[in-house]
Amino acid sequence: MAPLRAWIEVDLDAVRRNAERVTAHSGLPMIPMVKGDAYALGVLPVVRVLEPLAPHAYGVSVPAEGEELRAAGISRKIILYTPCLPHDLLRAHAAGLTPSLSSAEQIAAWAVMGGGAWHLVIDTGMHREGIAWDAVDTLRPVLAAHPPAGVYTHFHSADADAESIAQQESRFAQAVAALPSRPALMYADNSPAMARRATSPFGATRPGAFLYGLSGGPHAVIHPDPVVHVRARILELRWIEAGETVSYGATWRAPRRTRVATVAIGHADGWRRALSNWSDGLLHGRRVPMIGNVTMDMTMADVTEVEATVGDVVTVLGTDGTETLTLDGVATRAGLSPYELLNGLRSRLPHHYRGGHL
Ligand SMILES: *Cc1c(COP(=O)(O)O)cnc(C)c1O
Repeated sequence: MAPLRAWIEVDLDAVRRNAERVTAHSGLPMIPMVKGDAYALGVLPVVRVLEPLAPHAYGVSVPAEGEELRAAGISRKIILYTPCLPHDLLRAHAAGLTPSLSSAEQIAAWAVMGGGAWHLVIDTGMHREGIAWDAVDTLRPVLAAHPPAGVYTHFHSADADAESIAQQESRFAQAVAALPSRPALMYADNSPAMARRATSPFGATRPGAFLYGLSGGPHAVIHPDPVVHVRARILELRWIEAGETVSYGATWRAPRRTRVATVAIGHADGWRRALSNWSDGLLHGRRVPMIGNVTMDMTMADVTEVEATVGDVVTVLGTDGTETLTLDGVATRAGLSPYELLNGLRSRLPHHYRGGHL
């Protein structure tokens, strides 16, 4: 096989270690969130490495994601975490998925279909999905007839704000108290909530980001290993004189005679333009500043200080030698959400999987 120009390396052993860390830390069953093609890492390899850990269920967003797992032979529970349109309920039923429901009409429709297990979602302040925490009593008749297998809510600021967690938990408790019967599973913790506290009042965790190497935020007490390494080769090298500029818009000007490497990654690969002049690369384990605006297929690096040859690999995210460019560090320096940066890496970059064998 010809060497790749640019690729995303996914460390499946690190995914497994991160999942084991979540379970050891929380002491709770886990529902790994594998929506969005496992945050763009590739859902099937990720699920294959998680299967031996026997998670309680997998979390997806849309029926097609659940169908893909069923087609791959996954028989474990699969829970849908966005509201269903009427047609989605039919697909969920056909694929044996567990929908999240929150209206009397939906719950009745699911029951008429002979739907099986479903989860009730409570809106405690995110205001994105679910029945309002103080309106649960309006569902009592339908809940008494068709009780949910699980009840959950979703935190809106678990990375930043302990008070918001406390408020949402108290609203959640109020909602649970209004149910006609206590469900077998009550849960809420996403990655930042799980990572910041030693014990949880709930029956399961629901992490996504942590599994894929995103930190749980400034209050986290456990940290994930890096999973994603984005690498691209040097295509060309040139010297430019002091005062010359680099790339579109001439946003970077050489303060001295500079060795410029053209690296084979750009915004068509999901390497966001917002990273222009904000990120570093790693070349032979040493930091080199990425300079000038990110273009569609290429981005430049200042390699004046490091020996460089055409074909050498520049790591723009992840680890090279003893240096690591973390998702959180790279994204936040450029004012991006690390989730968005990770999810954007789904276009042209081939995935190269490392590890994953037991
Ligand atoms: C995406 C999502 C999660 C996982 O969130 P992370 O911050 O990635 O851990 C959990 N629950 C729901 C409802 C979600 O939509």
